[in-house]
Amino acid sequence: MVIIDTVAGMKEYVAAIKARKETIGFVPTMGYLHEGHLDLMRLAKKLADHTITSIFVNPTQFGVNEDLDKYPRDMEGDKKRSESVGVECIFAPTAKEMYPRGYATYINLEGITNTLCGISRPTHFRGVATVVVKLFNIVEPDFAIFGEKDFQQLLVIKRMVKDLNMKVQVVGHPIVRESDGLAMSSRNKYLSPEERKKALILNKSLKHARELFKDGLKDTLKLKDVISQMIASVQGCVIDYVEVIDAEDLSPIKTIKDKALIALAVKVGTTRLIDNTVLGEQLRL
Ligand code: AMP
Repeated sequence: MVIIDTVAGMKEYVAAIKARKETIGFVPTMGYLHEGHLDLMRLAKKLADHTITSIFVNPTQFGVNEDLDKYPRDMEGDKKRSESVGVECIFAPTAKEMYPRGYATYINLEGITNTLCGISRPTHFRGVATVVVKLFNIVEPDFAIFGEKDFQQLLVIKRMVKDLNMKVQVVGHPIVRESDGLAMSSRNKYLSPEERKKALILNKSLKHARELFKDGLKDTLKLKDVISQMIASVQGCVIDYVEVIDAEDLSPIKTIKDKALIALAVKVGTTRLIDNTVLGEQLRL
């Protein structure tokens, strides 16, 4: 496996693959890899001739008071883990390599970024879209895999690729969970054992809402209330948002016809966690 830290080096690596008319599957990450990331890489490997991942803690997607400086890093472990699932190349640039002096170009999406995480993290998706376009231009993937854990992010990337007539095929991958239901996340590392237990309420409330929906509850406000009450009853859990909305464009809905997204963001202690489920779709939670 090779590790490349320059844009020029990466372009050279990609050019050799393209010259052979072979395909690239790409998994962008911020590192501190867990099974969720590895599953995305396994899927990339199935879809394409070559699997490339990027490990880059992208400063432009963090707000001023967020966890950029303390975001967990483990390059040595990440190398081993990604190699174990057949990743052939890691692109791991520095922030200076990606945003050199004089950098001035950003990608903004309207509408879809003005809800959910876009409200409490107003500059987040601008940073995400910008870095993803840059990564796509550098890696030129045929397939790019993104997790449904970051459901809004997946929709934002799909929207951007469509709007900008980009060639890459964006593929979503279901949420990968711990055996007790907690959605895997690099940020779970921040949780104390006590908080880790409390964090299970996210998955539990989603499961409960799925049951209620199955039993006929279609009123989004009622579903939202039940979930919110469950989460708020756990001491130390503070809701950022709980929304039951359209799963295609994140617009508000009153009554669910056949499908809806439940998305939530909750602070457990000082750690902000997100989770979601799509009602009306077969899913394991
Ligand atoms: P991150 O390193 O957190 O930026 O995540 C990199 C990619 O992995 C994103 O597409 C995430 O949506 C995806 N991802 C992270 N955690 C999970 C998970 N538990 N299940 C599925 N995908 C995930």
